[in-house]
Amino acid sequence: MKYRELLIKGTETLRHAGIPDAAADGWYLLEYVSGMSRNTYFLRMEEEAPGELCDAYGRILEKRCARIPLQYITGEQEFMGLTFLVNEHVLVPRQDTETLVEQAEKKLLSGMCLLDLCTGSGCILISLLARVPGVIGLGTDISAEALETAEKNADRLGVGDRARWTLGDIFAPVEGRFDVIVSNPPYIRREDIDGLMPEVADFEPREALDGGRDGLEFYRRIISEAPEYLKEGGWLFFEIGCDQAEDVTALMRETGFVRTETAQDLSGLDRVVYGCLPEKPEKACVEQIREISGYSSGCKM
Ligand code: GLN
Repeated sequence: MKYRELLIKGTETLRHAGIPDAAADGWYLLEYVSGMSRNTYFLRMEEEAPGELCDAYGRILEKRCARIPLQYITGEQEFMGLTFLVNEHVLVPRQDTETLVEQAEKKLLSGMCLLDLCTGSGCILISLLARVPGVIGLGTDISAEALETAEKNADRLGVGDRARWTLGDIFAPVEGRFDVIVSNPPYIRREDIDGLMPEVADFEPREALDGGRDGLEFYRRIISEAPEYLKEGGWLFFEIGCDQAEDVTALMRETGFVRTETAQDLSGLDRVVYGCLPEKPEKACVEQIREISGYSSGCKM
């Protein structure tokens, strides 16, 4: 069969199986099995494709028809212009998450310490380390397989020497204080997960999606403990679901975070909430009264 016919057949197979973006996926999978660029394809599309290649293409089309995400088949996903290895143990990096990276980058300077909770593929921490020289980072996750993937990504992308990875539930394996904490925690309401597209609901790790009954479970836990792990004036950045900005901001303010802001993704939806701890802890009220009265009356209380 000619390459051109193969691509048409592949696209048709995917379309029949109801795969969204069948044409794009048909091409990406052919590119993956053949190693051809788009340009090479156009030069060679009237050539006969080797039988083995046709068979290999058929096998991966079958996987995609079963709704396995394209990225788990090819093993890669682009994020912030970098190529990340992905597998069924990590969430596929999303374009929405680039908003979190772009916002957090503005607060990072060389010499700072950065913590990424629920790091998954490591895409957030690694992109930030790649973009801001001199920053050192720690990523945590409850999945050992995820951390293995993150570590591989860091090494391949040249930031392995500035990244450390530690296994455990959010802050459990963390010591010390950081300048910036970032997290894209699981935030889908539990009852909504099964209604998501099959690629997500059936193949992405459930523990990376499930934000508890109201979707806010991880925000509550992270926000309540974050002040113990942030330096004075340190920043906390979250990716959020587009209807969670108000709740997450309220949780942060109740816990003493100030200068809270919301940022939008490329679709204009709320996607990031962030804020910082006060530079200096607020003085206790009684101390303030003492100061004021001491000043005005000249006597000590
Ligand atoms: N931090 C990872 C990402 O953004 C994983 C997030 C998660 O597992 N909820 O892709």
